[in-house]
Amino acid sequence: MINIPKGTKDVLPQDAYKWHFIEDTAAEVARVYNLKEIRTPVFEHTELFQRGVGDTTDIVNKEMYTFNDKGGRSITLKPEGTAGAARAFIENGMSSGVLPAKMFYITPAFRYERPQAGRLREFHQFGIEVYGSEKPDADAEVIFAASSFLQKLGVKDVKLKINSIGCKTCRARYNQALKEYLAPNLDKMCPVCRDRYGKNPLRILDCKEEDCKKITAQAPRITDYLCDECAEHFNAVQAYLKAGGLEFTVDPDIVRGLDYYTKTVFEFVSGGIGAQGTVCGGGRYDGLIEELGGSHIPAVGFAAGIERLILLMENTAVPFPEEGKPDIYFAGMDDESRRVAFSLALKAREQGIAAETDHMGRSVKAQFKYADKIGAKYVAAIGGNELEEGAVNIKRMADGQVQKVNFADINAYVLNGK
Ligand code: ATP
Ligand code: MG
Repeated sequence: MINIPKGTKDVLPQDAYKWHFIEDTAAEVARVYNLKEIRTPVFEHTELFQRGVGDTTDIVNKEMYTFNDKGGRSITLKPEGTAGAARAFIENGMSSGVLPAKMFYITPAFRYERPQAGRLREFHQFGIEVYGSEKPDADAEVIFAASSFLQKLGVKDVKLKINSIGCKTCRARYNQALKEYLAPNLDKMCPVCRDRYGKNPLRILDCKEEDCKKITAQAPRITDYLCDECAEHFNAVQAYLKAGGLEFTVDPDIVRGLDYYTKTVFEFVSGGIGAQGTVCGGGRYDGLIEELGGSHIPAVGFAAGIERLILLMENTAVPFPEEGKPDIYFAGMDDESRRVAFSLALKAREQGIAAETDHMGRSVKAQFKYADKIGAKYVAAIGGNELEEGAVNIKRMADGQVQKVNFADINAYVLNGK
């Protein structure tokens, strides 16, 4: 037997309703926030992610599924959704269209990571992208959209943490201070952080190694180094969050895993799924579009991990609404009544009624049992008498109530009782 690749998962038919609930909720948030869907390819030129995600990140350094295609081009399966959306925005000249461009996506993403609960090699993200506004209210709107998504799902005990990582100017000053602080302890840090020290010291705050975490606990805080503009922006974002009644804490350790962030960064974190607690992360990335060859277009967005959300909801007993069951089951006794049952089911479906009939050659008794198992609301058993009369007793499975209905009136009867 051939097994599923490590770090990937099937969504089986009996669980698909959980995904539909998440996707429908995402679409509903998108509708009320006026976000339009963007779909981009699952693979892109590797360079897009090297530039757009950043070559000092774990994603680009360790986690990408990269291969040469038959034409010798370096191709990478998308490890996240933003870079592709940004590329499409630039390539399709959207900066000269209506701004802000407000978009959302639901996409698979691929990262070569060590699989564990809430961490997969193929996972899915719901994300939003708002391009064209540098204003703090755009950051706040994106955060509220994420919050509303989680709230509509019924997710409990998720905390919002925000931070600002400044702009090029203030980050340079901060990096200097951080490096001075870290220098005496550099030999105690992990090799990855020693490398980050030279390339992108801010990333050290994101390290999950205990030794590094101990050292960075007392490190200078970026929020003490923000330039006037960044500090003002950060204050304004907080004022919008407060005005909308959203609780949050400022956490200077939130720096996000991607290189393209500027100013606001945020995470929604849950205690309900252990170490992989971040269900949604986002922020502002004003430099990204330019980095990818576009004009200066400020941007803000987030991505939420769908598998992590499902895991969290399962672990904390948040209910998923079940999907519809068949409205009516048509049982048939012999060849002729089976053909009638078959065509009555077809006619019902034409009217939008979910109808089922037998394909297993089961006895009428076994068909009733099956109808009960699949949760059919009504059962109509067709035999010789019914064919003669052109009418059938329809049984309501919930209470056993029976009603005689002419074949021609079945659809109306079922629709009425829906
Ligand atoms: P983490 O710190 O958990 O590695 P990250 O910073 O790499 O997360 P992002 O790149 O911001 O995560 O992705 C946004 C969201 O996508 C995460 O908050 C998480 O919910 C989800 N996610 C990221 N990587 C994985 C993965 N390997 N498996 C499942 N979900 C993931
Ligand atoms: Mg990661």
